[in-house]
Amino acid sequence: MADRKTWRPIIFSCPNTGDRVQSLLPDETPELGTDDLHPVTCAACDGVHFINLRTGAMIGERR
Ligand SMILES: [Zn+2]
Repeated sequence: MADRKTWRPIIFSCPNTGDRVQSLLPDETPELGTDDLHPVTCAACDGVHFINLRTGAMIGERR
């Protein structure tokens, strides 16, 4: 049946270049109590940024 993963497009601003970058996030509900950050490869700076799956906010700084 339908076991394909669905993705949702998001647009975030690269903290390094300031460009807007479009990427895809898995359309899944993360488990509660876990870290919701999802790594995405940035097309602007070729780096990896972390997107919060719940809020869609990008985490630009290390913690
Ligand atoms: Zn970037």
